[in-house]
Amino acid sequence: MSPADSDSSLPQRPPSVDALARTIAEHVELPAPLRVRCARMAIGSGGPDFAASAIALAQNLQLTMVQPVINATGVLLHTNLGRAPHLSENPQTVRASSLEFDVATGARGSRQSSLSVLLSELTGAEDAVVVNNNAAAVLLVLAAIAAGRDVTIARGESVEIGGGFRIPDVLEQSGARLIDVGTTNRTRTSDYRKAIQKRGNDVACIMRIHPSNFHIQGFTEQAPLEELSQLGVPVIADIGSGLIDARCQWLSGPPPQWLSQEPAAAQCLQAGAALVTFSGDKLLGGPQCGIIAGSRELVAACRAHPLMRALRPGSHVVAALQEVLLSYINKTVTTDIPFWQMATTTTEALQVRGEKMATALHQQCGLNAQLVPTQAMPGAGSTPGAFINSFALSLTGNHVAQLRKHRVPVIARTENGQTLLDLRSFDTRDDEEVVHALTLLK
Ligand SMILES: *Cc1c(COP(=O)(O)O)cnc(C)c1O
Repeated sequence: MSPADSDSSLPQRPPSVDALARTIAEHVELPAPLRVRCARMAIGSGGPDFAASAIALAQNLQLTMVQPVINATGVLLHTNLGRAPHLSENPQTVRASSLEFDVATGARGSRQSSLSVLLSELTGAEDAVVVNNNAAAVLLVLAAIAAGRDVTIARGESVEIGGGFRIPDVLEQSGARLIDVGTTNRTRTSDYRKAIQKRGNDVACIMRIHPSNFHIQGFTEQAPLEELSQLGVPVIADIGSGLIDARCQWLSGPPPQWLSQEPAAAQCLQAGAALVTFSGDKLLGGPQCGIIAGSRELVAACRAHPLMRALRPGSHVVAALQEVLLSYINKTVTTDIPFWQMATTTTEALQVRGEKMATALHQQCGLNAQLVPTQAMPGAGSTPGAFINSFALSLTGNHVAQLRKHRVPVIARTENGQTLLDLRSFDTRDDEEVVHALTLLK
């Protein structure tokens, strides 16, 4: 060893890329090419502590990988956690799919014809088409039926949904012109009528947007869909949250209270909306996608628009959505769709689960967790202000950062110095893993 190497006051000579990649391997599980990449970046950063910076880079990369987590936040459709949880994927045989193949004739088929039938059956629409998300659905509808023309929107509905989805901006991108009507808190049918009369044939449609993640209270008024649909231009209703039918006939009991304020596709179409648009991964409980359902003619205009090719969903999404829609038709929603399983589990069942977990914790490591009543939320901007009663394990102190570092990250929340793990937002098959994570807390 040369004298310079042992003198820590002098800058370290960078190690070889291979040596540094081997150091990373001792701390972080990553494929070799990615370890080499992190090693090179660390050397490029100029030190002084090459090993520490290489390990930090590798750990960072590993943490940013999409990975399964346990959602104990109590927000069932958590936007940062991928909204509706996935149907469990059982590894089936590896086969191609009949995505664009007509099995009956052997000719090329449409990738969405089954979805159109299933969605029409469930919503009463004449036709339906599916795109990548609801933002894309709104964009496509406006581009297909209102480019170069006017669209009237109530001032109180010109909203930003989150993630940068702002109605006026999407409208501008589509080539349509926004015509504000009414006031922030109150908009009447007569406001729309006046705007339409003034502009004559320039108004392509009335757009209604569900404010989703906020809620104006007090002196408010919204024009009923039934009235708007009599004004002679098509009404497009962006309901966002994706409740398919307010009667919830796929549940065994009556519709739950927390859904009472939620607009639903079937009822909006029945009230006269020409089209509804909504997300697949909110209350529907399916994969990320956007659904456009309603008038045959307007859906056909969307399907024929050049943007359709850019916005169409992939085969995995088509297959997953088909499965979810079939669950609605077969009324197996509460057993097949994770969101609906979680949303409809009884509080008694949650209490039994929680007591078992608290007992196990006490026996395994003497940890005292309390079981406390909580209010879980459907989430994803649906049903703002609505709660579903729930139970949570409550521990003294703030442990959220440590729980995030568990081998399956557990995402919890804190309230008044307590760490709360809400049982409604994760599956009972993860109870043991959560108990395990808690036994490791110091
Ligand atoms: C969530 C939401 C959107 C955006 O839907 P994505 O599927 O996230 O693109 C648009 N409009 C409304 C009313 C929404 O609630």
